[in-house]
Amino acid sequence: MKAIIVVGDGLADRPLKSLSGRTPLEAALKENLDAVAREGVCGIMDVIGPGRPPGSDAANLALLGYDPLECYRGRGALEALGAGVDLRPGDVAFRGNFACVDEDGVVVDRRAGRVEGSIFSEYLSEIRLVSHPDVEVKVLPTLGHRLAVVLRGEGLSWKVSDTDPHRDGMRILRSIPLDGSQEAWRTADIVNELTQLLRELMSRHPINRERVEMGLPPVNAILLRGAGEPPAIRPLKETYGVRGACVAVTPTVRGACRWAGFDLYTAPGATGGVDTDALSKAKVVERILPEYDLVYLHIKGADNASHDGDPHLKIKVIEKIDLMVGYLLEKIDWSETYMAVTADHTTSTRAKEHVGDPVPLALKGPEVRADEVDSFSERSCARGGLGRIKGKELMPIILDLLGKMEIFGS
Ligand SMILES: [Zn+2]
Repeated sequence: MKAIIVVGDGLADRPLKSLSGRTPLEAALKENLDAVAREGVCGIMDVIGPGRPPGSDAANLALLGYDPLECYRGRGALEALGAGVDLRPGDVAFRGNFACVDEDGVVVDRRAGRVEGSIFSEYLSEIRLVSHPDVEVKVLPTLGHRLAVVLRGEGLSWKVSDTDPHRDGMRILRSIPLDGSQEAWRTADIVNELTQLLRELMSRHPINRERVEMGLPPVNAILLRGAGEPPAIRPLKETYGVRGACVAVTPTVRGACRWAGFDLYTAPGATGGVDTDALSKAKVVERILPEYDLVYLHIKGADNASHDGDPHLKIKVIEKIDLMVGYLLEKIDWSETYMAVTADHTTSTRAKEHVGDPVPLALKGPEVRADEVDSFSERSCARGGLGRIKGKELMPIILDLLGKMEIFGS
């Protein structure tokens, strides 16, 4: 037996006035999602807990079967893992931007005109901190002006604040400890020394002479945010013996899946935005499924539309996801495959942010106890046979259907 978990990022919503009191899921044409609900068992899911708006990083950990309240250690490490950076337990990783600051440390361009950060790679390969020579520092440009910073050494903590002011026209911030631990104090001190050192190193890069001659501000700083350690989890492969694969573009999702022991795949044309090629992802799932027990398919777009406050765009993305699910319905051998369709959180298109309402869930497959629900939406699924579960409870339900769960007691 095999399983596919389809996660639509921010797919769920609240009823919207502009849709005559319907949610985008209720307003969309989605015969394939409805078919999954009709053939399967449905429910609603509090991804973290009732009324708790989930961040995408914590939400995906929950859907992978982990308790985010216990294992979550910030976003930076997940993102670095997803970008291909190698991490060990205890490392502290940040996401960051190359940026331009003036002599007073005021940020004049948070993205440094979207400079290609890899030009600095060589310059930043050997970093030694005078006050913390025991700490290994890696600055790794990822995409465009983005980068990851990894600190490796004894006694570090992810409980430190950002140096990124998140806005132009503000001073680059000093990192401060977010708890009273010695490790947090030490890490904040390291971050501040590193920030200063990087400003000196980058100012000397030849590109900045050119930029100044052209009247552009020099790319002379790195802004850090989202400190994190790899989550405290055991790979699913070790615990349950499942071979897992992840088809996703979003770095945090890829990072969570990678740390959970999944192989990572992308798909041509998958962008992580509203224009993403959903069908292309389904084709990858079809191709790799024979090699795996479990495929985690994450699809972005609906969340972006909600953050932009655009319900009609959200409906379009839902209809695209529906076609993707339709492709899978047609191509996969359902006599030996289960499929769950759900969301990682509710994103309110009115509020343009994540909210704590539960998400709908439909699960079909050879031996599910199908219920009476015949459409896939926030309200219809609430009447389903799975009732109301927590995000971390989905994975055990699926693993049990795959015959991978051990009996409790004797
Ligand atoms: Zn999300």
